[in-house]
Amino acid sequence: MKTFPVLDLPVHLSDNYEDWIIDRLNQGISTHIVTMNSEMAMAAQQDSELAQIIKKADLVVPDGSGIVIYLRRRGEKQARVAGIELASSLLEKLGSLGKDCPICFYGGAPKVSEKAAQAWQKKVPDINIIYNHGYLAGEELQSWCDRIQEIQPKLILVGLGVPRQERWITNHRHLAPNAIWIGVGGSFDIWGEVKERAPEFFCNNNLEWLYRLYQEPDRWKRMLVLPRFFLKAIF
Ligand code: UDP
Repeated sequence: MKTFPVLDLPVHLSDNYEDWIIDRLNQGISTHIVTMNSEMAMAAQQDSELAQIIKKADLVVPDGSGIVIYLRRRGEKQARVAGIELASSLLEKLGSLGKDCPICFYGGAPKVSEKAAQAWQKKVPDINIIYNHGYLAGEELQSWCDRIQEIQPKLILVGLGVPRQERWITNHRHLAPNAIWIGVGGSFDIWGEVKERAPEFFCNNNLEWLYRLYQEPDRWKRMLVLPRFFLKAIF
């Protein structure tokens, strides 16, 4: 798949990431997917380990209107692919395969990944999910890793926030070497109904960040990088 550099980080260009992912899953090829937004691209400017992880990922999708604007300004008409929507669509398709396609949710506060798994179970009754919250340590974490190794999920969604989830995937993908691994940020919070996704108006008008700031005012410091990214995108 063709890539285009965004602040020196490769973003894959496609109008159908999903078929490519399902193809990899069917072939059992280990795949790390990064869903990149402007905040992450800026974080990678200061964090060389994160930058390396993004460069080595098998697929980097443009999650965030900033990335899409950056690409458009350079002649690449790429549509935005929100990570949560990509993950939802994969869950709908793969969930119906039931036992033939074990799925793993890892991350979020205690009870949240459970609520998220239950919501998906309601939506796709055959879905086969193992889940755990993202605050495990010591023996608990070890036995969770053992469980992943034993079950061999085919799709592993990791919601520990950036860059923790990207690091975790890099360090643990050997546990399930035929799986698709995706860092999904706060998606479990949304599926578990702890947080709300921005209404369509905000998503369609490049204002998702504004809604996010309203829901999570503590993010303001992290968001200071956004105007800087925007300037880099424009010029
Ligand atoms: N989280 C976690 N373990 C940690 C730190 C964070 O499971 O040690 C979870 C947190 O509960 C939240 C998600 O990671 O569900 C971070 O979501 P956020 O929307 O901040 O993701 P980002 O914007 O960093 O991708």
